[in-house]
Amino acid sequence: MSEMMKDKFWSIIDNRKDELIKLVSDLIKIPSENPTGNVEEITKFISGYLNESKIQYDIIRSKEEFPNIVAKLGNDNGKTIILNGHADVVPVGDLNKWNFEPFSGEITDTQILGRGTSDMKAGLAGIIFATRILAEENAKLNGKIILHIVPDEETGGDFGTKWLLDNGYSYDADACLVAEPTSNSNVEVGQKGSTWFKIKSYGKSAHGSIGNYVGENAITKLMKILSEIEKFTEIKGIYDENQQKVLADSKTIAKRALKAEGVENVIDHVAVNIGTITGGIKTNMVPDYCEATIDIRIPIGVSGSDIEKKFNEIIEKLNIENIEYEFNWNSEANYTDVDNDIVRAAVNNAENVWGSEVLPAYQWASSDARYYRYNNIPTIQYGPANTEGIHSYNENVDIEDVVNSTKIYLGILTDLLEIE
Ligand SMILES: [Zn+2]
Repeated sequence: MSEMMKDKFWSIIDNRKDELIKLVSDLIKIPSENPTGNVEEITKFISGYLNESKIQYDIIRSKEEFPNIVAKLGNDNGKTIILNGHADVVPVGDLNKWNFEPFSGEITDTQILGRGTSDMKAGLAGIIFATRILAEENAKLNGKIILHIVPDEETGGDFGTKWLLDNGYSYDADACLVAEPTSNSNVEVGQKGSTWFKIKSYGKSAHGSIGNYVGENAITKLMKILSEIEKFTEIKGIYDENQQKVLADSKTIAKRALKAEGVENVIDHVAVNIGTITGGIKTNMVPDYCEATIDIRIPIGVSGSDIEKKFNEIIEKLNIENIEYEFNWNSEANYTDVDNDIVRAAVNNAENVWGSEVLPAYQWASSDARYYRYNNIPTIQYGPANTEGIHSYNENVDIEDVVNSTKIYLGILTDLLEIE
């Protein structure tokens, strides 16, 4: 029965494709750059669209400038599926590097162009449009859909997804789908954790000519610590039996996507980026201060405290004094079991729509998916994207990917909410 429903929904999408594409384009035309972030206009637009679609919603402000939209379709008897999308986009940056106007929402024969097409207004349009079709068709849902449309994913989610889940809007959901960009042939089922940390090194100033004997050089001290931290990349994640195939597939995917020698190790090893360093005043002075900031990404099976412990061992071993450091934990690594219903439904529907193999995979980056996983909600990420423009210039998305992703969303909902 549900297969018949899917065929019906999918042909509705084919027939109303122009409407879906226009929705993506309309969303692109409303700038919602974050920072500096003003999402009032786009929130108003989406609210209007939900009104038109006869979908109930509330606007919930975690802070005056951060409106979240929480919409609901269905009933309380059965499963609860959350669909998540963010309305903010990263800034356009240098306008001269764009080959088109970033907020024109231009539609070509095969693509939609503009800031936020791939990340993630196309995915956002897909989940809203899929919900609208179910509302208009009066589909009998065995449960409900909750839309979480959030304002601040690009700056960490503290006033969006995280806030909603901390403040009673998790609905004890059975599953969550985040419509963030992936490739067509992967369903994201896990992400690395991350921390940013800062080390400050203090020394004693002296004349540069006698610096090897007198004074204390804050820069050379920090260099010793940094070269030890670079060795963290040897730390490997830990994966159980069930995760081995996903791990192997993820490495193959990373190698294919990133095309660099050894890059597949990014999936199951710690990654270290020494991002900034500042110190010293003048060439002929022994520097008495230096600081560095470091981005560390942690694979599944390694925790933040493992990294902290390792760092303390280094400091002890080097016997270095007069340094200060602070860890700024963003997230722990997280994953959803590949046997979970939502993973199976996503893979099956994506394979049906695309007619080719689709694999669950772990990612090297992170998104709001982590907050649902911390709340024990099985979560996947799947969404239309051309990765080269994301957080860069000339962002675009293929129309075919938008249409097919929306079909896949409807297929997943039809399966999980047993729509017949
Ligand atoms: Zn995003």
